[in-house]
Amino acid sequence: KLNATILELRGNIRVFVRLRPLLAGEEDPAKVDYPDVDSLDGGKEMVVHAPMTFSATGKERNEKHNYGFDRVFSPATANGQVFDDCRDLIQSVIDGYNVSILSYGQTGSGKTYGMSGPNGIIPSAIAMLLAEMHRLDEKGWQYNVAASFVEVYNETINDLLGDAKTWDEGDDLSGSVRGKRKEKHEIHHDPISGKTTVTNLSSVSLWPPPENDGQWPPAAKITGETNTESYTEKAVNQLLDTAAKNRRVAATKSNERSSRSHSIFVLTLRGRCEATGESSEGVLNLVDLAGSERLKQSGAEGNRAKETAAINKSLSSLGDVIAALGNKKGDESHIPYRNSKLTYLLQSSLGGTAANGKSSRTLMLLHLSPLQAHWQESRSSLLFGSKVH
Ligand code: ADP
Ligand code: MG
Repeated sequence: KLNATILELRGNIRVFVRLRPLLAGEEDPAKVDYPDVDSLDGGKEMVVHAPMTFSATGKERNEKHNYGFDRVFSPATANGQVFDDCRDLIQSVIDGYNVSILSYGQTGSGKTYGMSGPNGIIPSAIAMLLAEMHRLDEKGWQYNVAASFVEVYNETINDLLGDAKTWDEGDDLSGSVRGKRKEKHEIHHDPISGKTTVTNLSSVSLWPPPENDGQWPPAAKITGETNTESYTEKAVNQLLDTAAKNRRVAATKSNERSSRSHSIFVLTLRGRCEATGESSEGVLNLVDLAGSERLKQSGAEGNRAKETAAINKSLSSLGDVIAALGNKKGDESHIPYRNSKLTYLLQSSLGGTAANGKSSRTLMLLHLSPLQAHWQESRSSLLFGSKVH
């Protein structure tokens, strides 16, 4: 059997908090004073004391709130350090667990930077897993690793690894457009196997690697590359570039699409040991959620109102599902997965034990902005995190 991973988990749900640094041009006086974050950096079972003195506005307030989480990361923490605390979860996917890591926070709080940026969770997870595949190959375990990338926008699933999509504002976007052909993507959940699938979804094989002069989908040529590291880099860049292109096409007339949709990067690992006949299957979902500020925006009309309603529904369903999983006593039937596309899609990877006896695990990464102007949103994010923790 593979090395069993010992997870320091209290239950199957973890919550980390990460405060991003001030960016160039963001003035220091506008900073929220999160007094204990620096001293608590990287520790466990931490408390955020917040806030804050609104001295810059003249309104002195000195509230103190305690929020306990599993890790708190200060603005000095690099992506690689956050990833180090995700390694055991990602290792557990090799051992056959389903895992979801979700970035939550308002627009501009660092979700995409932490997920897809330099040494972010997506590139680091791919690099770590492919290196492990290489190692396990020598130990007699053959793995297949496949990647998919989907967007959930207005309760509709789009394929981010399909061919670049071409559509115009006003087109019916229910379903993605690959080439010129529209395809509808539906979620199917099989209660017996506990597996969730999406119809007509592109899937890109990452492992085993192609022959040296083979094609690496989607249609890029790798010439003379033999080491895992440069292969991994190419794989990551192509996946992220293709997804970004597809999102850009979708966003032509409505900018900042990423703040109004969820993106879910899915890695599926299937392993088999020839000698013993053992097998294993695990799924890793890396989720960059829609901006949480959308939750409250009222008074929007038309398309905006529809987007807001969709985001409301999915983020609040997500909170409800995770909270229900944390409270449940053995009964899966009352978990409201079906209330949104997001939770339905992640049904078998959100913590708890599926009907087939398979365990899944969830990490919620709460991203906070240091700006005083954003404090109310930061506070909502901390409350969301306390609800699911
Ligand atoms: P979101 O996806 O939550 O809307 P982004 O990830 O796009 O936010 O981050 C907003 C801006 O802040 C970007 O310019 C990003 O590069 C920068 N940023 C976020 N987190 C960090 C960080 N930890 N270190 C440096 N820059 C960061
Ligand atoms: Mg983003």
